[in-house]
Amino acid sequence: MGGWLWAVIPAVMVGGGWVSENARRALKTRHERKLELHQAAERHRLALEAANRPPEPVCGCTHHLAKHDQQGKCHEVVEAPTAWDADRKPVQYEARPCNCQQYIGPEPLSTVFAAEIVDPR
Ligand SMILES: [Zn+2]
Ligand SMILES: [Zn+2]
Repeated sequence: MGGWLWAVIPAVMVGGGWVSENARRALKTRHERKLELHQAAERHRLALEAANRPPEPVCGCTHHLAKHDQQGKCHEVVEAPTAWDADRKPVQYEARPCNCQQYIGPEPLSTVFAAEIVDPR
């Protein structure tokens, strides 16, 4: 046995440790990058989904299309002020049918509309 072996063993141990530490770090970085890619893809998918979803069929009177009849008249009941105080603040309200005469809003696809009617909201 020559004395050189005693010099090589610590070098291998230190070197090996460094290599494995490096490899572990590289692996971790790759894993993180993969995760980031995955998250970006997920964000992209969600954005696409939101873009493809038809807009809520809500009328200019703020009521849902489902509240409007075939003629477009709104049947939702609204609270209308009937009395005001000195500061012109309403103090009394009365339930009145919405006076909207025509649905103005996004026209949903018929399938979506049907699903919306079933929805018990
Ligand atoms: Zn309306
Ligand atoms: Zn309305």
